[in-house]
Amino acid sequence: MTRIDLTDGFSIHDYRALLKLHNDTGETRTLENRKGLRCPACNQPFDRLFVTERETHSFESPPDRPFCLASTTEKLLVLTH
Ligand SMILES: [Zn+2]
Repeated sequence: MTRIDLTDGFSIHDYRALLKLHNDTGETRTLENRKGLRCPACNQPFDRLFVTERETHSFESPPDRPFCLASTTEKLLVLTH
């Protein structure tokens, strides 16, 4: 199975066939992992991926499961398991 590779940054388009877009505000996106794509932090399959290009982001509700963080020069990724 494929692991998200952040070596050259992160583009959703590279994993388009593996992720289902749930929400897109233009600056943030929430995606569902449909094909067992693996987390760049812990190398385990994740459930949901949140991506933001903003410098900060606040979540209104706490995650109900373990999560990982990963960053590139342009983006912050939050992956829930
Ligand atoms: Zn992880």
